[in-house]
Amino acid sequence: MFRKLKPQTKLFSKGYDPQLSEGSAIPPVFRTSTFIFKNSQEGKRAFEIAYGLKTANKGEVPALIYTRVNNPNCQMVEDKITVWDDAEEAALFSSGMGAISSTCLSFLKPGDTLLFSDPVYGGTEFFFRKILPEYKIKTVPFPAGSRPAVIERLVKDNPSTRIIFIESPANPTIQLTDIESASDIARRNSRENHRIRVIVDNTFMGPIFCSPLKFGADLIVYSATKFIGGHSDLVAGITLGSKEDIGSVKVTRTIFGSNSDPDTAWLILRSLGTLDLRMKKQAKNAKKIVEFLQKHPRVKKVAYPGIDQMGDYQLQLYEKQCKGSGSLISFYIEGGEKEAFRVMDATREFLLAVSLGGIESLIEHPHAMTHADMTEEEKRTAGITPNLIRLSVGLQDAEDLIHDLKNALDI
Ligand SMILES: *Cc1c(COP(=O)(O)O)cnc(C)c1O
Repeated sequence: MFRKLKPQTKLFSKGYDPQLSEGSAIPPVFRTSTFIFKNSQEGKRAFEIAYGLKTANKGEVPALIYTRVNNPNCQMVEDKITVWDDAEEAALFSSGMGAISSTCLSFLKPGDTLLFSDPVYGGTEFFFRKILPEYKIKTVPFPAGSRPAVIERLVKDNPSTRIIFIESPANPTIQLTDIESASDIARRNSRENHRIRVIVDNTFMGPIFCSPLKFGADLIVYSATKFIGGHSDLVAGITLGSKEDIGSVKVTRTIFGSNSDPDTAWLILRSLGTLDLRMKKQAKNAKKIVEFLQKHPRVKKVAYPGIDQMGDYQLQLYEKQCKGSGSLISFYIEGGEKEAFRVMDATREFLLAVSLGGIESLIEHPHAMTHADMTEEEKRTAGITPNLIRLSVGLQDAEDLIHDLKNALDI
């Protein structure tokens, strides 16, 4: 009898046929730059499809060409990563920034406007505020967690809007933004030959805790460096969306050269099977740490999805669009930079490093580190103050992590 497999099961069989690789149970690394065509016609057809001149027929598998265009290991990741969101297609990139820049530039041209939730990841911020305007693309921030009416007003005020870019939860303030309402606004304000796309950076929630496409978003972008890779040993990015959109994104990737490579893709393949397990366990650890921090007298406020302290509207959004809270915690302590640094320098089990989503726990200072590039004014508006500390909770024992934080806070 037909049974619809759960993503966690589908993941294992999708995208890899052992018979094409001498029966190898685990895929080999296809470390090659170029691929041999069976005949000239096959080569011609492969290029037609790769450059978007023609579309592949249903069930047609175009021949591989060259690793900047496509590679078996990269394609396996692209096939497998679609299982959670039921996305039509995915594209693997050399980094999260590669995915974000190539995806945005696939749909923008001079004169267009991009709206973005603020704050966003430091690199994204730089790209939006400093690079895109140089190409005559206007970029307009709106506070993460804005009500739909605020976003709709901006879209109406900027008829050239092409992209609404949402990072949810926002880094590092952990504010969720309403994906469904933004997608609805984009659809209602799109015109013939002027489609507005919603792109969601879902890095913090991963495919396990949030499915933006199900809320109407057009594209999802990930830094696969974080939870998807999960072991702090690689840098990669992924974009998911419709076959047509990902087709355009892949052409941009081929020309910009923001593709990944077979070794990195192989490592991600290894990581995918444990993604669900890791993210759920890390979230469980994080929840315990949040409960500890909320009670600590030196902690003024904790930011974490789904807790009362985030306020009613954030809780509503959490209930609507998240299946879990993830393992990123931001907390504000009494004092300023000096006090924050003292805590950070005193922890032993939390490594003092930026990045997130790996199996080891990390601690960092957004004001002086990941978001150093923003002006004081921008940081203040976004809620990035010198007493803010960000944790990425890993897989150590939660009680040990709490003990470590307690010691650091009590110094
Ligand atoms: C790390 C990160 C990025 C950038 O990804 P890289 O892989 O470092 O290029 C983008 N968005 C978010 C939310 C991130 O945490």
